[in-house]
Amino acid sequence: MTRVGLLVGLGLSLLGAFSCAPGAERPHVILISIDTLRADHVGCYGYDRPTTPAIDALALESIRFENAISQAGWTLPSHMSLMTSLMPSQHGVTQERALNPAIVTLAESLQNAGYTTAGFASWIYVSENYGFGQGFDEYRTLVDTRRLDVAGGGGAFPAGRVVDAVQGWLSRRGDDPVFLFVHLFDPHMDYVPPGEYAEMFAEADPPSIDGRYETLKRYIRGLNESPASLSPRELHHVESLYDGEIRYVDSQIEELLASLDASLGLGNCHLILLSDHGEEFMDHGSIEGHGWTLYEEVVHVPLLWRLPAKARGGGTVAAPVGLIDVAPTLLDYLQIDAPEAFRGKSRRTAMEGDESPGYVLSENDRFNIEMRVLRGERYKLIHTADSGRNAAGVPILAGFELYDLVKDPAEAVNLYDPEDGRSHALVALLEASSGEAGAGVQNPAAELSEEQLELLRSLGYVQ
Ligand SMILES: [Zn+2]
Repeated sequence: MTRVGLLVGLGLSLLGAFSCAPGAERPHVILISIDTLRADHVGCYGYDRPTTPAIDALALESIRFENAISQAGWTLPSHMSLMTSLMPSQHGVTQERALNPAIVTLAESLQNAGYTTAGFASWIYVSENYGFGQGFDEYRTLVDTRRLDVAGGGGAFPAGRVVDAVQGWLSRRGDDPVFLFVHLFDPHMDYVPPGEYAEMFAEADPPSIDGRYETLKRYIRGLNESPASLSPRELHHVESLYDGEIRYVDSQIEELLASLDASLGLGNCHLILLSDHGEEFMDHGSIEGHGWTLYEEVVHVPLLWRLPAKARGGGTVAAPVGLIDVAPTLLDYLQIDAPEAFRGKSRRTAMEGDESPGYVLSENDRFNIEMRVLRGERYKLIHTADSGRNAAGVPILAGFELYDLVKDPAEAVNLYDPEDGRSHALVALLEASSGEAGAGVQNPAAELSEEQLELLRSLGYVQ
């Protein structure tokens, strides 16, 4: 190449680099998922143990969603709903089924807009095997493959090692804005917190029970027609181990945020922290419940969103919001067109103070248990299909359940009555909405009678 040609070539390549760059002002996006973190074990959601000092400090700079709901009760479909803004019955990613590559993910939308995309996950159900790598320039699943004990949770890298890997990536990233996804698995069973965290919330002389799946599985109702029962002291101890895991992961969140701040500068950054589902501690007669039911202890998750410049920091959103809404909300803020197939809604106006009531859906189709949930701000309808026995051979209690979460947050008193107008209207809405969710992306709006709509309006379900 001649000297002139070289210069022209350099100029073209510089021009090319410039025209491909999305603009230096575009904010970074950090998405952190802490697996199995039920909202009511987080300080800023009202927990009385100091499990989450770093997350609580982050909440003061973030918008906190008081009623964030996961679309599934377990890791794989829930994370995929987060990444695709589709209901589980739409993306179809469940046990032994991976993502259809034709479905456009959040990572692909950001990659196409010029973002450098990287993901660090610490469990198989958030791995490339299921399609989670789609749209990521770099995606690492940090699981020790010598310990593939899926049920027990073994093999997942502890948060400290995941944060180490993220720090390594930060040190070699380029100049483009980044979309960074970090998944930390620690609060998931086994509850075996490292070092000092094992005793942090435990009694001085604890009962002999431990927090391993192998120990606790006989208390899981879905697995046992007559599950063993934990004493209050044993339950308290198991929860203290779970809380120790949370406190450990919180310490790593503190370190991760410091690294991100130093590397990226968090002033121009969307930082989102959430969980994929919660966990049962005998709330409804079982332990390690995620995947079996869709009660609040399983679907109510923390969701914090720190906007660039900490806008509206300390603010809250009360309306129910799904993890399915995260991707369209983010793309709305970034002024990037959302894929047409997205089923979630942008919640930007709610984050900016203009809330409107609504509802979100959750689904479960695991272990031969088919459940659908309509979760409003006050009322929650659950339908369990009559599929006989679950995959473990335990009979399924089919039917409808209706709860008033204001009067009965523990979901103890089933108000469902087929003769009652409210029950009738909510069932109609659930059936219409589930059809919309399950039948693909081109479904018509729900068809409801004027009377049904009026009753729903009075409850805040529709405008
Ligand atoms: Zn999970």
